[in-house]
Amino acid sequence: MKDNILSGKEISAAVKEKLKLKTENLKKQGINPGLAVIIVGEDPASKVYVNNKKKTAESLGIYSEIYELPENTEQSELLKLVEALNKRDDINGILCQLPLPKHLNEKEVINKIDKNKDVDAFHPENVGKIMLGEPLFLPCTPAGVMEMLKYKNINIQGKHCVVVGRSNIVGKPMAMLLLKENGTVTVCHSKTENLKKICKSADILVAAVGRPLFITKDMVKKGAVVIDVGINRLKDGKLCGDVDFEKVCKKAEYITPVPGGVGVMTVTMLMQNTLKAAELQFNEKINEKKLKEAPKAKIKTEIKAKTESAKKAIKKAVTSAAKKQKTEAEKIKAKAKALASTKEKIKDKAKDKAKDKEKEKVEEIKTENQTESKNENS
Ligand code: NDP
Repeated sequence: MKDNILSGKEISAAVKEKLKLKTENLKKQGINPGLAVIIVGEDPASKVYVNNKKKTAESLGIYSEIYELPENTEQSELLKLVEALNKRDDINGILCQLPLPKHLNEKEVINKIDKNKDVDAFHPENVGKIMLGEPLFLPCTPAGVMEMLKYKNINIQGKHCVVVGRSNIVGKPMAMLLLKENGTVTVCHSKTENLKKICKSADILVAAVGRPLFITKDMVKKGAVVIDVGINRLKDGKLCGDVDFEKVCKKAEYITPVPGGVGVMTVTMLMQNTLKAAELQFNEKINEKKLKEAPKAKIKTEIKAKTESAKKAIKKAVTSAAKKQKTEAEKIKAKAKALASTKEKIKDKAKDKAKDKEKEKVEEIKTENQTESKNENS
């Protein structure tokens, strides 16, 4: 392999290793990521893409379901299926393989997919978020391209990035992601004048046209990075991109092949989005549960706080009553003591008085006796 080839196989294998580990970790937390893919009709290319998605999901341990609906499926049936999948907890990502048969309304189907399960990032709300530079899910093909640039440490900041193609699924979101990384972006389309000159000024050239070998050697600057998003089937059944690979690869610093380039990355990025969706929905459920339980928890906390404060008040009242009682008892005790001491004093006084009286009487008797003996002697 030439050393300037940006191999989708090699880069997606490295990303898938990480995704496999992430799936295992999610499962350990009780999160089982699930992807549903809907395909309507018999388009062989679409069938190949859908089978690839199923195989890749299985290889990473992601649960997947494929809904193969007949060509004559009615719009209402398709919408009912999407609604049912939206409600299922075991399905985190929903993808409807495009294009749908002509009698079906693609826009209505995309709008019906729950925006949190929109792993293709086609829902208008998710497209808006990409425009705001705050993507919920990254659009798979442009995200795959960005992953390839990142893998090879290709600098985007300040570089002239030319995107040929302005479709809603590739060109426009591709331009937004390059702009988010500070690239100076030019978007070209079928009405662009001086296309060759603009392409030749590109440091990073992304071709998403859908025309085999559209980007020729003379449209590419030497040393440019060339990303070929196109997948075209030639008359002999072979696949080729929008870039004349054999000639351009001699000029480019890096170039993606077809097959084995961006296409492989697209499926890998779909799996990355499915894991993100599973994680997101799991966290949302936890938050919803918390919100539901919040009023109950608040009441519980209030009751606990009131009980605690009542207990404290009772304890305080009991302590203060006991203190008061103790003081009263001490006062009574002191009064009784004082009374007893007064009684003792009175008793002592009475005793002294009686003693004095007795003494007086003895004196009286003594005096009387003396008088009597005096009288007898005289
Ligand atoms: P569309 O047909 O939706 O868009 C093609 C774009 O190319 C349009 O914007 C169109 O311009 C522009 N264009 C057509 N002719 C010219 C021209 N002569 N000069 C300049 N611009 C031109 O295709 P998609 O974006 O859906 O896909 C583009 C290619 O990428 C296809 O080959 C498709 O198979 C492939 N693809 C690959 C994927 C992958 O995983 N690798 C995923 C999706 C697509 P205007 O708007 O003026 O008509």
